[in-house]
Amino acid sequence: MHDFLKTDQINSIRSEINKRISDVQARLNSPYLSSDENGMTLADPNDRASLETDRTYEQAQKAREKQQLGELQETLTRMNRDLEDFGFCDSCGIEIDFDRLLSVPTSCHCMECQRISEIKKKTMH
Ligand SMILES: [Zn+2]
Repeated sequence: MHDFLKTDQINSIRSEINKRISDVQARLNSPYLSSDENGMTLADPNDRASLETDRTYEQAQKAREKQQLGELQETLTRMNRDLEDFGFCDSCGIEIDFDRLLSVPTSCHCMECQRISEIKKKTMH
């Protein structure tokens, strides 16, 4: 049993995570939008340049997806290992809202701590 999350709420979060994992995996397995074949026939150097930018963007996108996938899998592992510790803010220990957990299952922080860390990040740049 969990302190504040009901079993069906935990199940909802779990299935949400699993759904996202398969979504990300499907995107990662999809072929690149800009294929080599098309790229090589482009004569205009500007088109080539923009194609390169697209590729760089896609690679960055894939890297982000991979990171997200890792976080999702880690969250599942964490839920399986220490369910009673799941759903609490890593910074202040407060219970994270079920709605927030469902919309951002990989979140380890409550709204407030997230907000503060985002403000800190902004002021550091
Ligand atoms: Zn917090």
